[in-house]
Amino acid sequence: MKKEKILNLFIGSNNRGKIKEIRDLLPKRVEILTPKDFDLKSPIEIGKTFEENSFIKAKFFSKKTKMICLADDSGLEIDSLNRFPGIYSARWGGKKSNFNLAIKRVYKELKKNDVNWNKLKQTARFICALTIYWPNNEFINVSGKVEGTISRFKKGNNGFGYDPIFVPLNKKLTFGQMIPKEKYKIDHRANAYKKIKKFF
Ligand code: IMP
Repeated sequence: MKKEKILNLFIGSNNRGKIKEIRDLLPKRVEILTPKDFDLKSPIEIGKTFEENSFIKAKFFSKKTKMICLADDSGLEIDSLNRFPGIYSARWGGKKSNFNLAIKRVYKELKKNDVNWNKLKQTARFICALTIYWPNNEFINVSGKVEGTISRFKKGNNGFGYDPIFVPLNKKLTFGQMIPKEKYKIDHRANAYKKIKKFF
């Protein structure tokens, strides 16, 4: 698939944290629009995997806007919770996507699963699936991940979502404590983005 460089892009997400991180990854010359510019709501995510859901979003928004669309479906997998919240990561924050609520739920589930949860290494990973969907129905799906552990307490105010409780492998700080530049060097979204960088 040989393609011209993308200069106008629709980002298929209503999540402000995510939009900022995608914007930061893209070259500055790429003009972006988001669902807010078209007063569009996100589709219901009926997929069973990150890949299926990012495809659903990218196709939906590309059809609505007739633009090239980039969508991201991402989340946190915690091994001792059978990889939950996984594709339900946003939904654990309730209707209003309240990230404090989502983090409380993680600690509640870890405790429910094992009262000694905080004495064990709670391995986890962030996964990110990205889809670019072109108006001529061509598309590309890629994904990336970052391994790490769940910290015993919430730390830091940077980033979004579960960043304050995720410590990437071989680091001491949570993503919430890192400056964005440090997070982007190693995170799941940047790892997935590397695979589609050539289109921008
Ligand atoms: P989605 O919009 O269904 O893909 O929701 C992804 C959810 O996963 C977000 O609402 C966050 O809760 C979580 N998530 C994804 N990527 C990150 C990240 O980079 N940091 C923290 N949380 C993330």
